[in-house]
Amino acid sequence: MHKIQFGRRRMAPSKIVCVGRNYVAHIEELGNEVPEEMVVFIKPNSAITQTLLAMPDETVHYEAEICYLVEGGRFVGVGCGLDLTKRALQGRLKEKGLPWERAKAFDGAALFSPFVRLSSPMAELEIELQVNGQVRQHGSTTLMIYPPWQILAELSTFMTLADGDIVMSGTPAGVGPVVAGDHYLCRLLAAREELTSARWCAA
Ligand code: ZN
Repeated sequence: MHKIQFGRRRMAPSKIVCVGRNYVAHIEELGNEVPEEMVVFIKPNSAITQTLLAMPDETVHYEAEICYLVEGGRFVGVGCGLDLTKRALQGRLKEKGLPWERAKAFDGAALFSPFVRLSSPMAELEIELQVNGQVRQHGSTTLMIYPPWQILAELSTFMTLADGDIVMSGTPAGVGPVVAGDHYLCRLLAAREELTSARWCAA
């Protein structure tokens, strides 16, 4: 099982639950409709990696997302991560009404910063993704259609979250292709202070 870092502990998420289309500006950049219900999909534990791979034969997009770590059925930790997406493939699957797993759940499709404990995980958080030193994505919990408390409430109506599970809360606008050699810096902030961050260089 792949593990993530939570303070000094290492935890193996049984699943990563992802919320799709949670920021209006990102819905518009992909030409999607604002969903009537929260869009949910899952990445398996096998998707977790620390190696960011550009795939020459695929259009792989980065999606930087504020992430929550679950313990005791609650959000207890926060981090940031990349939800990698084979965009062209996802487009073809969406068109046919087929599931997205081939485009979202492949090996290496989920990267995370270390998670940190936060006494108030539902507090306002900001995420920033820099590519080669330039800010490409910036989002905040205040811009979410479904804020974290509502994500947790909605998920709990149909799914049990196990200790160590991660919830990815959707990506703000500014997604783009993963390019080999590019440097990515993902930062999670609260009140302008950095809580955690991760750096990856695409191979
Ligand atoms: Zn996403």
